[in-house]
This record gives sequence, structure tokens and C-alpha cells, in this order.
Amino acid sequence: MLFVPWSCIADWKCNTCGLCCKAYSVVLNFQEWLHIVKNYGAETTASGLNKLYLRRKSDGSCIFLYKLSNMHLCGLQHMKPTACKLWPFKILGSPKFGYAREAVYPYGGKNLYVYADSTCNGLIYGRPTWEFANQTIKEFVEIALGIRNDQYKSKANIGFTHQLIPTRRIF
Ligand code: SF4
Ligand code: SF4
Repeated sequence: MLFVPWSCIADWKCNTCGLCCKAYSVVLNFQEWLHIVKNYGAETTASGLNKLYLRRKSDGSCIFLYKLSNMHLCGLQHMKPTACKLWPFKILGSPKFGYAREAVYPYGGKNLYVYADSTCNGLIYGRPTWEFANQTIKEFVEIALGIRNDQYKSKANIGFTHQLIPTRRIF
């Protein structure tokens, strides 16, 4: 797994490949777990190592992942866990994965450090477009900080999959 500083990425668009919903376990916070259990039953979740997760099917994919034609759909779109919303980006308070100058993202008077998980198939490498730098990354940062809940730029394919992360954000 390689983490790439945001300023090396021209743009990101989820192509609904579903890879992220098959490759990782989704960690839930307690409120997310409670909400999902109330709506879908405890059997849609799992626990282990002091963490709560979404259950995975026998093929390893998320229990809420569906396939339609060649597209993957998220059945939990309306209450998608934060970990899924933030995928493939990590918003950190320090340059944990190096390249601080390339990863820094000033926001609200603070320096945050933004990286993308290179396993995502929706990353386009190059010089960031204005929209990616000023709207897409900003939206991910605001979701990570809890300032925003709704996704626009980070949900280019409304109703489709994308977003999943093996660990929670770190500050
Ligand atoms: S985006 Fe949806 S289908 Fe994919 S892991 Fe998250 S909840 Fe499951
Ligand atoms: S976020 Fe990336 S890995 Fe996940 S479904 Fe979209 S393109 Fe594929």
C-alpha cells in the first residue's frame, strides 16, 4: 500500500470498480454501528480486536456491496460510514507518510496533510486541477473534521460504491 501526497494527483473520480469494498474491512464508530444495527440488524456487523466492523461476505466483499452490470453499488449509501466516505484519502495532522511539502493542505489556519491510497483505481496522477485542489480535497477535509456530512465532489457517482478505508483518520 503506497500513500501519495494529494498534490501529485490531478483528479479523482470513482469508477465504481468496487475494489475498495472487497479489499478492506470497514471500521465503524459506535454511533455508526448502532445506527446500522437498528436499521439492518446486528448480523450485518462484526467485532474483533476491540473494533466494530461491517460484516464481509464469504468472498471478502462488504455485506452491503451489490453488483449491477459492471458497476458496483453501495447499499448503505444513505448512512455510509465515515471510513467509506473518506476513502481513498487520509487526512492527517502530521506528515506520517513523508513528502510534507507535497502533502500539506492548509485549512482553517492549520496545516493538514493529505494522502491518497494508490490502490484506488480512480486516481489520475499529475498537476492538480483547480476543482480537485479547491473543492474535492476541501470536501474530504471537511468530512474528516466533522464539519460536513454530505458528499458532492467526493461522491461523483451518486449511489455507487467508492469510499472505504482500513483504518480511521488519524490526527
Ligand atoms: S462503500 Fe458501501 S459497499 Fe463499500 S464498503 Fe462502504 S458500506 Fe460497504
Ligand atoms: S473509490 Fe477507487 S477503488 Fe473504490 S470503487 Fe471507486 S475507483 Fe474503485
